[in-house]
Amino acid sequence: MSKRQTESSGKARNIGIEVKAPKSECQDGKCPFHGTLPVRGIIVKGRVVSARATKSVVIEKNYFHWVQKYQRYERRHSRISAYNPECVAAKEGDFVTIAECRPLSKTKAFVVVEKGE
Ligand SMILES: [Zn+2]
Repeated sequence: MSKRQTESSGKARNIGIEVKAPKSECQDGKCPFHGTLPVRGIIVKGRVVSARATKSVVIEKNYFHWVQKYQRYERRHSRISAYNPECVAAKEGDFVTIAECRPLSKTKAFVVVEKGE
């Protein structure tokens, strides 16, 4: 029996990754901090490009891809849908960190864990 140490600030659960827990609380079962949703797998940083749907955001990630023929990089981007818990409440234009979780719907398998800028 090992009990994980909880963070001193608030009642937020320790989700196992180094992010600041949100200041506000929520009653959401699908919140990694106040609910029971486990996060595991990859962590991605990106910008919110759409926050129109309820409790959902679309994150855009920019990266470079090396093209051998032209010996230079091309810009690429990809979009990932993520769950946006009430306590995080990321808005369009926010720079966020998302973490992989279980599939929450057809397109969502990520959850917003930190909001910056
Ligand atoms: Zn929460």
